[in-house]
Amino acid sequence: MASAELQPLIYDIGAAGRSGVNLPEPDVPLSPLPTDLMRADLPLPEVGEVQVVRHFVKLSKLNYSIDEGLYPLGSCTMKYNPKVNEDAARLPGFAQLHPLTDEDGCQGALFLMHELQRWLGEISGFEAVSLTPAAGAQGEFAGILMIRRYHIDRGEGQRDFILVPNSAHGTNPATVTMAGMEVRELPADSQGNVDMHALHAACEGELRDRIAGMMITVPSTLGLFESTILEVIDTVQDAGGMMYMDGANMNALMGVVKPGELGFDVMHYNLHKTFSTPHGGGGPGSGAVGVNAKLAPYLPGPIVAIVEEEADDSPPLYGFVMPQKSIGRMKAFHGNFGMHLRAYAYIRVYGDSGIRDVTRYAVLNANYLRAKLMRTYPVPYPRYCGHEFVLEGHIDGADEVHALDISKRLMDYGFHPPTNYFPLIVPEALLIEPTETEVKEDLDAFVEAMESIADEARTEPETLLTAPHTAPVRRLDEVRAARELVLCCAPAMPAH
Ligand SMILES: *Cc1c(COP(=O)(O)O)cnc(C)c1O
Repeated sequence: MASAELQPLIYDIGAAGRSGVNLPEPDVPLSPLPTDLMRADLPLPEVGEVQVVRHFVKLSKLNYSIDEGLYPLGSCTMKYNPKVNEDAARLPGFAQLHPLTDEDGCQGALFLMHELQRWLGEISGFEAVSLTPAAGAQGEFAGILMIRRYHIDRGEGQRDFILVPNSAHGTNPATVTMAGMEVRELPADSQGNVDMHALHAACEGELRDRIAGMMITVPSTLGLFESTILEVIDTVQDAGGMMYMDGANMNALMGVVKPGELGFDVMHYNLHKTFSTPHGGGGPGSGAVGVNAKLAPYLPGPIVAIVEEEADDSPPLYGFVMPQKSIGRMKAFHGNFGMHLRAYAYIRVYGDSGIRDVTRYAVLNANYLRAKLMRTYPVPYPRYCGHEFVLEGHIDGADEVHALDISKRLMDYGFHPPTNYFPLIVPEALLIEPTETEVKEDLDAFVEAMESIADEARTEPETLLTAPHTAPVRRLDEVRAARELVLCCAPAMPAH
């Protein structure tokens, strides 16, 4: 690790006898701490309230966050996370609802989930939705299992491979393999679309009867909407396969295109991307899945349904049901309800025209950046993009400078770097997603930073090769950090 200035640890700022709490006299007998569970050489920190607060505020300032500035981390970026949705998710009536509460006692929560299922179905043109999967990748897994069960039920269990374009998100081939199926990769053509010759060859060749389906990321990880998507869908379905759409990034489509109407059979949504839950750092996710009528009986459960219509004007009775041929449960209980709540609030606040505007601005912002940056950096697929686009981190006249150096230097300019070296099919890839909420001034500031970095690359490449210069830690040896994991803070502590 380079010349990181280590922050003093909370142990270092403590002193015996200091305390940040003032507890009442105990009214139960005192018992000693279980010493066998505690390491004698690791004392509890003794610090005052103000020291603790300062310590954690200092630490929090070392992190770059979406609340500070542009976070163009393509594909997995933080989209819009309204703070009011965090308040909604913490309303005690929701937040403290026990997952084993009787259905009678949680009709409000069930109503909300039912509405969300309906709205997600409406947004994407699907018949039915299950909210249970706990991540995008788990939604994919559910989708592929449903496809497999569908074929088995029709006596076509020999259908055991899934076509996956090489512009797919990395989770797609991983999902197929986990579901016990085989991946057949399809190349992209010179426009970044699925290579139609390769697709026809696969679907009309001798393995036609073994095609279970195709999994396609839309827009692809190149940020592109497949211009031949209808032909792709027809070709695969003609061969008896089903179409899976990876809809993690619905902020490029919602309100404008309904995947179900295009002919897709199944899709997952990432509620923690498009629909407002903050993500990253391994927090909970929600990868709801939507399906057409063919796959509806196979949805993972439980899903929320109206179990009893009331005769008068009173609201119907909602309950959990397992779809008839369900592939089963994806996780305990009913999915990550806090995220259903945020998604509900998000969609409800925007309404249908607002949802469409999100997409329009996401696409406009990405194309604005692409058009401006194309003057300075090579863009391998220079066509109208969706919510994100790829450029090559290569600067003519500065061959020693790589995408990583550009990203590190961006930190000095006060920006979070874009996604690096992904998608794999573009050399020196920088995948940039500005999102719908950025204003023109901020986009222009990013363009200016990228332009001056290109100038620096030619005139003073060393500045880039040694960047970042202003971050609390410099270049980390990520490979060594992973191989020689140090999980103990002891080396930085003074010897006792
Ligand atoms: C983020 C993402 C995923 C995976 O979602 P997780 O919740 O991280 O599992 C899948 N596909 C695409 C296109 C994504 O952007």
